[in-house]
Amino acid sequence: MKTIEHFVNGVSYSGNSKRFSPVFNPATGEETAKVKLGTEEDLNKTVEKAEAAFLAWSNTPPLSRARVLFKFKELIEKNSDELTKLIVSEHGKVYEDAKGSLTRGLEVVEYACGIPQVLKGEFTENVGKNVDSWSIRQPLGVCAGITPFNFPAMVPMWMFPMAIACGNTFVLKPSEKDPSCSIKLAELLTTAGLPDGVFNVVNGDKEVVDAIIKNKKISAVSFVGSTPIAKYIYENCAKNEKRVQALGGAKNHCVVMPDCNLDQAVNGLMGAAYGSAGERCMAQSVAVAVGNIGDRLVEKLKSQVEKLKVGPGMDKNSEMGPLITKDHLKKVIDYVDIGIKEGAKLIVDGRNLKLQGYENGYYMGGCLFDDVKKNMRIYKEEIFGPVLSVVRVKNFDEALNLVNDHEFGNGVSIFTRDGDAGRSFSNKAKIGMVGINIPIPVPMAFHSFGGWKRSLFGDQHMHGPEGVRFYTKLKTVTSRWPDGLKSDPEFTMPTMK
Ligand code: NAD
Repeated sequence: MKTIEHFVNGVSYSGNSKRFSPVFNPATGEETAKVKLGTEEDLNKTVEKAEAAFLAWSNTPPLSRARVLFKFKELIEKNSDELTKLIVSEHGKVYEDAKGSLTRGLEVVEYACGIPQVLKGEFTENVGKNVDSWSIRQPLGVCAGITPFNFPAMVPMWMFPMAIACGNTFVLKPSEKDPSCSIKLAELLTTAGLPDGVFNVVNGDKEVVDAIIKNKKISAVSFVGSTPIAKYIYENCAKNEKRVQALGGAKNHCVVMPDCNLDQAVNGLMGAAYGSAGERCMAQSVAVAVGNIGDRLVEKLKSQVEKLKVGPGMDKNSEMGPLITKDHLKKVIDYVDIGIKEGAKLIVDGRNLKLQGYENGYYMGGCLFDDVKKNMRIYKEEIFGPVLSVVRVKNFDEALNLVNDHEFGNGVSIFTRDGDAGRSFSNKAKIGMVGINIPIPVPMAFHSFGGWKRSLFGDQHMHGPEGVRFYTKLKTVTSRWPDGLKSDPEFTMPTMK
C-alpha cells in the first residue's frame, strides 16, 4: 500500500516516525494509503531547513519571487485534472466542485503573482527639511500553516502563496485525512523553480501541531479548522509570542425575505447547504424563513432535496458525494436523531441511503428540518453535513437578531428584492462575510477571507490585503542626508525643523 511521506527541502522525506494514519477513499470505504505521522524531531529538522532558506529567499527581488509563482500557476493549470482527482479520491466531493475549489486556490496564486505591486511601500519626501520617511513591509521568517480536511488544496493555497510571495519560508501541516494534494503542490513548486527549503510539508497530527506551537523559530501560524482547536492554537501560539490567525467553525444562516425571488433563493440554498455534502465552512445550514414565506420555502426545498443525486465524486451525474469518514457520517446521522428528539420536524430523511455497488462508501442523503428552534443543539452546533434547518421568524428584526446572537460569525446571506433590507442587513450583521442574493459569499483572492466572533481568533483575515499584512511586518525609516560634514554634533532631542 502507498505510503505518503513528508516533503522537506525540495525532496520527499521519511522522517523518524513509526506512526501512520490510514487514508480512505470515502466513495468506496477502501483504504488507499497510509500517511506518516511526523514527530517533534521531524518538525524541528524541517524548520531548520526553512530557516536556512529564509535569508536568500527574503532577499530575492519580489519580481523574481513572482516569476516562480507565475510558473507555479502554469503548472497547476497543466496538472489540474490530476490535482482534482486527488481531491475527489481522498475528500469525496464531486469532480466539478473539487475543480472549482482548486480554481479558488489558483486565484490566490494569481494575486500573489502581483507581489511587486502589492509590496510597494509608502514614501514621504521632506517630512522635515531634507528629511524623508518611508514605510516598508518585510517578511517575518519561517511561517507555518495547519489546515482542515474539507479543502485539501484551496485552504493551504489561502496561506502559502501569500507567505512565500512576501519572502517568508513555509511549513505546512495538512489534514491527515487527505494529505496527497499538499505533497503534489510541493512537487510542482520545486518544478517551478522554488529554492529548496522555502516550502515544506510535514504530515502528522497533534504531535506535529504541538511541535509547531513550541518551536521558537516559527514566527507566525495560520490555522483553519474547528473552533476548539482554533482557540487552542490561538492561545498557545500567542503565549509563545507568535503571530497567529486561527479560523474556526461556522453555522451560516440564509435569510429568506417574503419579497425575494423564491426560486433563486431555493437554488442558492440547495448548493450552499448540500454542495460538498455540507462540509464547507461557508455551507448554509440554517434557512431563516421571514414572515409568511415559510410554507412555500419548505415545500420547494422538500421537492429539491428529495431529488438530490448522491453518488461517487467521479460520477458526472452526482450532485453530492460521500462524507469524509465513517465516524463523521455517524456523527452527522446522530445529529439528525438528536434533532428529532428535540422536537424539530424532519421533512426529508436522508439517513438510510444505500448506493448499489458502493455499500461501504460514507453516503447519506440530504436531510431537511422544519420548525427548528434557537435552543436546539441542531441549531446551535456545527453539524458539517448535508442537514438544513429551517427556522421561522416573524420579521426582519427577528432574523437579524437570530443571526447576531449566534456564537459563530463566518458567512451569512439575505435573499430579498428590497434594497433597504439588503443594505440594512449588510450594515448590521455581526458576520465577517455577507451575501446579498449570493448564497456563498466567499471573497475573491484580492479581497480577504475570514469570519467574526468564534469563527476567527486573531486580527487578520486570509489572503488579499490582510494576507499581505499578516505575513509581513511594518518598518518605517526616517533619513536625512546632510550637505556633507558641515555641522557640529547635535545633542538636543531631534525635532523636524
Ligand atoms: P479539525 O479542527 O479537526 O482539524 C484541523 C487541523 O487541526 C488538522 O490539520 C488536524 O490534524 C489538526 N488537529 C486536530 N485535532 C487537533 C488537536 N487536538 N490538537 C492539535 N491539532 C489538531 O478540523 P477538520 O475536521 O479537519 O475540519 C473541519 C472544520 O474546519 C470545521 O469546523 C469547519 O468549519 C472548519 N473550517 C473553517 C474554515 C474557515 O475559514 N473558518 C474553513 C474550512 C474549514
